[in-house]
Amino acid sequence: MANSKFEYVRGFEQTDALLPNTWIVVRVDGRAFTKMCAVYGFEKPNDRRALDLMNAAAKAVVADLPDITIGYGISDEYSFVFHKSCNLFERRASKLVSTVVSTFTANYVYSWSTYFTSTPLSFPLPTFDGRAVCYPSVQNLRDYLSWRQVDCHINNLYNTTFWALVQLGGASNREAEKALAGTLSADKNEILFSRFHINYNNEPEMFKKGSVIFRDYELVDPDSHRVAEEMDDLAEPVQQSKSQAEKDKKRRSKARVVVEHLDIIKDEFWDRRPWILS
Ligand code: ATP
Ligand code: ATP
Ligand code: MG
Ligand code: MG
Ligand code: MG
Ligand code: MG
Ligand code: MG
Repeated sequence: MANSKFEYVRGFEQTDALLPNTWIVVRVDGRAFTKMCAVYGFEKPNDRRALDLMNAAAKAVVADLPDITIGYGISDEYSFVFHKSCNLFERRASKLVSTVVSTFTANYVYSWSTYFTSTPLSFPLPTFDGRAVCYPSVQNLRDYLSWRQVDCHINNLYNTTFWALVQLGGASNREAEKALAGTLSADKNEILFSRFHINYNNEPEMFKKGSVIFRDYELVDPDSHRVAEEMDDLAEPVQQSKSQAEKDKKRRSKARVVVEHLDIIKDEFWDRRPWILS
């Protein structure tokens, strides 16, 4: 194939390397999941099986791509953050996005039957789209993640109230929509509590906060002294030597990947896990 007269066509390929030294977020989103919910009978407002399946697929992505430092998922979407120093695929957007999307989709399909034990997968098959966005500062990146978590909260409060009106209150979809038009958060909390005796605060954390995926180093290495030392290494802002970078990468690929449902808007989450953004 090399040096054929046809090879010039490679020159038509556009470079799509993402800006260096920026945090890359790849977000995948389920295609037409409103319809998927109807076809496969997702429970409303939150089908736990579907969320667990999203988390399983995302865990596989994070485990497969050590350059990902954190993932955040809500509904039919997942965001994956590549470290700003990442040079995977020379940072080519199409390679990064397509690899994340296909790894996610393959694992979603593979694990379907584990979570939907009595609902076999057939057609339509689940598919996902994807995009990459660069964020130049940690503040921008954290604001991005905060934006997604606020979205989770706003949507979940709305959906919880909407479906309470429909499922428990006997309202039609249209009536529920009308009842909620123009309401504030406090009004929705009040409707839930006074009409349905639901305290929104007691709803499951996964529904209220979404799912955060990251590597839990401390639980991996029982030798806490060594962990602290390595943590210092990771926090060092200077350019890492090749071998140190290789060591970190290897360590990342061996660390336990965990899924938790925590507030990622406040500083506490990040202060307690300095390795994620260092
Ligand atoms: P698009 O292809 O443009 O993304 P879409 O129908 O997937 O279209 P979204 O905005 O992504 O539109 O919305 C996803 C829909 O799937 C929402 O209605 C959401 O409530 C629903 N959904 C996703 N996950 C779950 C779940 N675990 N349980 C119940 N409903 C869910
Ligand atoms: P990359 O992730 O960079 O694409 P790769 O290992 O997939 O790495 P390719 O250049 O895509 O590299 O090469 C694909 C390899 O798979 C080749 O070695 C090719 O011979 C082999 N391969 C693909 N399809 C078949 C097949 N049907 N039978 C035997 N070998 C195959
Ligand atoms: Mg090939
Ligand atoms: Mg969409
Ligand atoms: Mg969607
Ligand atoms: Mg969506
Ligand atoms: Mg190949």
